Amino acid sequence: MKTILVTGGAGFIGGNFVMRFVGNKKYRIINLDLLTYAGNLVTLTQLDGNNNHLFVKGDIGDKKLVSSLLAKYSPSAIVNFAAESHVDRSIDSPSSFIETNIVGTHNLLLCALKYYKNLSADNQKSFRFLHVSTDEVYGSLSPDEPPFTEKNRYEPNSPYSASKASADHLVRSYFATFDLPTLTTNCSNNYGPYQFPEKLVPLVIRKAIAGESIPVYGDGMQVRDWLYVIDHCCAINKVLESGTPGEVYNIGGNSEMTNINIVKSICNILDRLEPAVNGTPHEKLIKFVADRPGHDRRYAIDISKIEKDLSWQPSENFTTGMEKTVAWYLTNQKWCETVLADSYDEKRLGNF
Ligand code: NAD
Repeated sequence: MKTILVTGGAGFIGGNFVMRFVGNKKYRIINLDLLTYAGNLVTLTQLDGNNNHLFVKGDIGDKKLVSSLLAKYSPSAIVNFAAESHVDRSIDSPSSFIETNIVGTHNLLLCALKYYKNLSADNQKSFRFLHVSTDEVYGSLSPDEPPFTEKNRYEPNSPYSASKASADHLVRSYFATFDLPTLTTNCSNNYGPYQFPEKLVPLVIRKAIAGESIPVYGDGMQVRDWLYVIDHCCAINKVLESGTPGEVYNIGGNSEMTNINIVKSICNILDRLEPAVNGTPHEKLIKFVADRPGHDRRYAIDISKIEKDLSWQPSENFTTGMEKTVAWYLTNQKWCETVLADSYDEKRLGNF
């Protein structure tokens, strides 16, 4: 069984990745996570006592710690999920995005390169540094522009996407300059279990079942492509196993939707699974609020490269994936309460 170092594996996508690939005995995972407001060990309780999962609390920017983990566990890959990931928070308080997403990623690259140089020729051949990034680095599309390909220019518009774009460039440079075998993935919006409850999908579910108003930015006509999180995790694994070093792979769900339609479809599922006591449709709770500054209008992603080169395709469509997701949040309301209580009491206050 291969050992890999995963960063940010107590967050939404990293947590799903770790649970899936430790759970099915694919990898032994060293999981390095700082446990910011967005990371929580409650997410990983199903791995308690599993010897193939080792959790280490720490910062990707800590050179001594990262180097010691590489020396001690000799992983054959690093998969970097760790990031500050919420656009709204990057507008309120950009500094931590620069620290983690740029400086932290650069520290991982530095440590990885030093480690890589000392590997045997055979181990060098199989070593990979996979950096998980976002489609937001490409900026915003007009309604009739074709979806983003890997050749699109980078035009990030928020401190979040700018910090991810910087990290992507650093990763690229470590391949071009130092021959570190890097891979980069740029994925569209994810939804699914264990997403921090301040993000759109869990937020809408929580507000709707509490009978509170559901805030929608601007006119709600912003378009995003949506992908079920497990499909994203499987795509990352495909890239890790079969991607060509130095390459970038776009990942998406072939599922462009306006925000308002996302909110309405969640409300419709809830009307069936958890109808309001007075029978009022949940979408009556929708309330349009002032738009986010710099809000990108449309993202859409062309996945033909990963389909053709690595034979990956999403297995869920929006309807099946969202049905599963809403059902998960309904049966896991305790998880939402726990991670929110934990973050707001101790961590969020410290971060701002
Ligand atoms: P998340 O905010 O849910 O989780 C991030 C995790 O990183 C948390 O567990 C947090 O504790 C940890 N972390 C933060 N700073 C750290 C540091 N300095 N050192 C170690 N750990 C640290 O984010 P997510 O939604 O799971 O996103 C994971 C990655 O995927 C990010 O790089 C993000 O940019 C990218 N991505 C996310 C989406 C999406 O829709 N959520 C889409 C495309 C790409």
